[in-house]
Amino acid sequence: MRDFTNDLRWLAINSATIKSWPLQQQIEGCAQAGITGIAPWRDGVAALGPKRSRELLRAHDMTATCYCRGGMFTAAEAAGRKAAIEDNKRAIDEAAEVGARCLVLVAGGLPPGSKDIAGARAQVRDGIAAIASHARTARMPLAIEPLHPMTAADRCVVSTLDQALDLCDELGDGVGVAVDVYHVWWDPALKAAIARAGTRILTYHVCDWLVPTADLVADRGMMGDGIIDLRGIRAMVEAAGYAGHCDVEIFSARNWWTRDPAEVLQVCVERHRSVV
Ligand code: ZN
Repeated sequence: MRDFTNDLRWLAINSATIKSWPLQQQIEGCAQAGITGIAPWRDGVAALGPKRSRELLRAHDMTATCYCRGGMFTAAEAAGRKAAIEDNKRAIDEAAEVGARCLVLVAGGLPPGSKDIAGARAQVRDGIAAIASHARTARMPLAIEPLHPMTAADRCVVSTLDQALDLCDELGDGVGVAVDVYHVWWDPALKAAIARAGTRILTYHVCDWLVPTADLVADRGMMGDGIIDLRGIRAMVEAAGYAGHCDVEIFSARNWWTRDPAEVLQVCVERHRSVV
C-alpha cells in the first residue's frame, strides 16, 4: 500500500482552490511547493492556450489530473441540449490537447420552469451518450461527478455515486466517476458504491464540510476543518483500486479565496500530510 500521508506525489490542486492566480502561476506555484498534479479549468486553459498549457505542465512534470469541466446537458429546448453536446465535444478536445487524465462532467439541473426530474435525468443520459464515442475516439475518459442532492434543482440531477454508476453501466467503456468527498460523504451506501465503482473511479477530490456551512457552492472547508472522515473515505477508494492523486478542490469565498495562494498551497501540503 502506498503511503499517501508523507508522499506529496499524490497531492494535486484544483485550479479553483487558487483561482486568483492565472494558470501559469498556478503551475509554477504548485511545482515550487512540491505538488505534482493540477486540475485545470477551461477558462484558465483558454486564457493561456491549450498548447502552452500542455508545454508548461510537461516542463514542470505536472499531471493534469482532470479537466474541469463539461456537462450541463439539461435544457428546456432541443437546441439548448444540442449546443451543450457540441460544447462538451470541444471540452473533450481541449482536455486531450492539454493531456488531462479525464474530463469531469457535472450533469446539469432542472431546466427553468420544469418539475420533471426524471426527464432531466434522461436528458443527462442522452447527452453523455451523444458524446461518448467522440470521447472514446479522443481517448478521453469521462468522469461523471455526483453532486450533493441540495444542488439537484440548479446544478446536478445526479446525486449519488450509485446513480452515476448506473449511468456508467448503461453507457459502457470510457465512462467512469469522479468521487468528491464534499458531495458523497453523507451517503449511507457510500462504502458499497465505492467498491462497486472499482477502477471506474477516475479522479478523487478532497476538501471538508464545515459546520455550519454557509453556502453549498462556495463555502468548502480545508481538509481537517470539518466533519468528513477523509482517512476513512480514502481507505475505501484505495481498496477499490484507485491509485491516483487526491485533488484539493476548495471553493471558499469567505476564507481561502481571500488569502495568498502560496499560503493556501502550504496549508494544503500540511493538511495532506496530517489529515487526508
Ligand atoms: Zn469535485
